[in-house]
Amino acid sequence: MPEAKKILIVDDEPDIVILTEKFLELENYETIPCTNGNDALQIIEQEHNDIALVLLDLMMPNISGYEILKSIKSNEKFKRILVVLFTVKSFTEDIQKGKELGADGYLVKAVSGKELLSYVKTILEKHPS
Ligand SMILES: [Mg+2]
Repeated sequence: MPEAKKILIVDDEPDIVILTEKFLELENYETIPCTNGNDALQIIEQEHNDIALVLLDLMMPNISGYEILKSIKSNEKFKRILVVLFTVKSFTEDIQKGKELGADGYLVKAVSGKELLSYVKTILEKHPS
């Protein structure tokens, strides 16, 4: 199996998806943009072998980030995929809930592009797929 490399960005705010993609592409990460939960689940089903990491917004209409996180981490096929919650929610209970559902980390959205890149780089290096 080839090394999984892609980063799936899931956020219902298109501007955030575009901005995040731009930063990640500066370091040549391959990204898959996604602005809704249903599409995210479909992309994960089809491309899970190529996906190393999901940057996942928590607050989205229809399907929340928690539900997507649960679908990834409760499925043998997907659970090696790293999931970093990407959220404005930085309350302890939200982070705790994410951890209980198997999240590998979280980033608060106020993060700078530089911090985003350094975080992504570190977590991918720590968990080679
Ligand atoms: Mg949102």
